[in-house]
Amino acid sequence: MPQNEKNYGPSLGLRRRTLLLMAVCGIVSFALLLARLYRLQITDHERYEALAVAQQLREASASNERGTIYDRGGVPLAISASVDNVYLSPMEIEMYGEDRELIADELSRILGIDRAEILEKAGQSGSWYVTVARKVEAETARQVREFKDRCGIRGVRLETDRKRYYPNSSLACHLLGFVGTDNVGLEGIEAQYDPFLRGGKGRSVREANAYGTDMLFESWGDYLPGEDGCDVVTTIDSTIQYYVEKHLKQAVADYDIRNGAGAIAMDVNTGAVLAMASLDGYDPNDFLAVGGKARAAVDAAADEEERAALLRAFRERQWRNKALSDTYEPGSTFKIITLSMALDCGSVSTEDFFYCPGSVSVVGRSSPIRCWKDGGHGSQSLTQSVQHSCNAAFVTIGQRVGAERFYQYCDAFGFLRLSEDPDEQLTARTGIDLAGESGSIWWSRNVFCSPKNLSQLAAASFGQTFTITPLQLITAVSACVNGGRLMKPYVVSEIRSADGAILQRREPEMVRQVIRAETSEKVRAILEQVVGDPNEGTGRNAAVAGYRIGGKTGTSEKVSLEAATGEKEYIVSFIGFAPADDPQIAILVFLDTPSSESGIYISGGQMAAPVVGAMMADVLPYLGVEPVYSEEDAARMDAVMPQLVGKTLEEAAAAVREAGLRYRTLGDGGRVTAQLPAAHFQIARGTEIILYLGAEISNEKESVSNLVGMRYNEARDVLSRRGIFLHARGTVSDGESQCVAAQSVEEGASVDHGCVIEVVLIDADESMLGKY
Ligand SMILES: [Zn+2]
Repeated sequence: MPQNEKNYGPSLGLRRRTLLLMAVCGIVSFALLLARLYRLQITDHERYEALAVAQQLREASASNERGTIYDRGGVPLAISASVDNVYLSPMEIEMYGEDRELIADELSRILGIDRAEILEKAGQSGSWYVTVARKVEAETARQVREFKDRCGIRGVRLETDRKRYYPNSSLACHLLGFVGTDNVGLEGIEAQYDPFLRGGKGRSVREANAYGTDMLFESWGDYLPGEDGCDVVTTIDSTIQYYVEKHLKQAVADYDIRNGAGAIAMDVNTGAVLAMASLDGYDPNDFLAVGGKARAAVDAAADEEERAALLRAFRERQWRNKALSDTYEPGSTFKIITLSMALDCGSVSTEDFFYCPGSVSVVGRSSPIRCWKDGGHGSQSLTQSVQHSCNAAFVTIGQRVGAERFYQYCDAFGFLRLSEDPDEQLTARTGIDLAGESGSIWWSRNVFCSPKNLSQLAAASFGQTFTITPLQLITAVSACVNGGRLMKPYVVSEIRSADGAILQRREPEMVRQVIRAETSEKVRAILEQVVGDPNEGTGRNAAVAGYRIGGKTGTSEKVSLEAATGEKEYIVSFIGFAPADDPQIAILVFLDTPSSESGIYISGGQMAAPVVGAMMADVLPYLGVEPVYSEEDAARMDAVMPQLVGKTLEEAAAAVREAGLRYRTLGDGGRVTAQLPAAHFQIARGTEIILYLGAEISNEKESVSNLVGMRYNEARDVLSRRGIFLHARGTVSDGESQCVAAQSVEEGASVDHGCVIEVVLIDADESMLGKY
């Protein structure tokens, strides 16, 4: 059973806010610390610079101030701070007859470096410059200076260097990338925007030789700045990034995802990337480190060679931004594209019906293409065909569009770039301003558009036999729902000079109008029915009470892998957008290779849709989108426990009923003296809560039972009889037809009375278990 986070404490909402607050406080205190460090450096720096210019100097390469990377709200995501390198000048040590043993003793103590190593370096005759430690912290550098001053040592020197800090650790690591020891950006924004961030080359100046050295140079080798690097303002919203990563990590744990996962959140109207995540991640402050299972595998390596090879492989894997570097068959999420082009060119209308007998024959294919539902869907409207994610209907829709037109639309949506050569295999990229973007792979025109073989067209209609990146999909789907405009995705909105002047500002860029605004409106309405219809929608697990969300599920088999190894592996995905009537944000989540042992049916609807729902539930209120609750919504939401202590039994009973709960009483007083659970906890609608009328709450512990596989309402009643309560993560569509897939507190754990256990729900209805 998947391991979930424990939740004995305050409500989830409160914990979320606390976590967020903690993160923000961390950022602020860190920024203050840096500001102080910076002032200190600058003040002293200028004093020494004035001294330096008069000397005969020798240049060495050194990094100047690298620019800061900000999120769209001004939160620093990557910052540079001044640090010191400690080096020895063995020539001077020899020249002034300084005590090597003393130097080795003291530096070993201060820097924590092997004494023998320092002694060896101090004795390297003929050398002016031997590095002992790079990028030491301010306090360490102070101790080295103190030693130099105290003992009058000239052969130990410090030089200013820069260190890159990522105050939020792994947050947005794949977007940010990291810098190497020479302060050159190696991945992500750090790599793509390196020329801006780096600025002009600075000069590290130290005396050309010991004879020309003034004693005032004593403490510091010095530094002359080049032109400092520019600051880069991104489109990333660190709060949205935080929510997206949090739910993605939870999903990887819940569904035992074997090969990582990714997510993208995009402003559908501008193409600005609001969040982008790829798991497993890493901490850019220590980007070489590998953790967890990877670390264990490296440690278990047989020899040094294998160890090095494993390290290299794991590092490359953790640095890979799956959201734009991986390509995959999108599967049924691509039906949004087929639907859009078919409506736009008039080959289908919202009035049309499609008949699904369970399979459909295709010219050029020896066997018919089967719909995921045995026996077929029968007669269905266009909307129902999308709700059901019916492959047979989509083969028909694709055929009505026709191969040539289908191909042209794919070009317009940015999935391929048409070529003069009809035999050329086609590819395309979005051109996002980030390193590492892969290109799509499409059939050549001659293969795809051959009238004798329509099997490519048929499979492409439901998202198979070609590969694209997740970034291409969300960019195209954004066009389908934003009024038809394909926007070029981007992550950097502004470049500022070191003194804050705006050098460049990027405006959203429309690539082209792909479909008409009226078509887009129809597409939005249909996709809202995929999520919003609790009976027929395969995307209903992405629903969030109070919000209008549209979207589409996808489950794709890794065909090439099966061909090579005979193993079946899947990528499950969901793409959602909201609000459905006026979209602002789209979120795509894909989970690469869920384990078949998780107990949950492998499908986008069961696994990825609830993740997007949970993200939307956090992000939409944050974006200021007001929820509007229908009566239906209210009935589907978990209830909120009212404050009842001090009320008369009659008042309390009324409040309990109003909240959609039931109660039982313990004791025979007239007023409520205690309640379980405590006020403000969210618990399952219809729960029997406990009102204490003078009786004491038992101090005995309760043992948690196994809830997995139980219907939501049944689990609710089993727990409440024992004074424990239940809350569902995500949306409850129906407590009778959904059952528990995972629980936050393990079976057998002992908890206090009043504890609220969180669960993940999935559909229990067998007829929903299909490939969509
Ligand atoms: Zn069907």
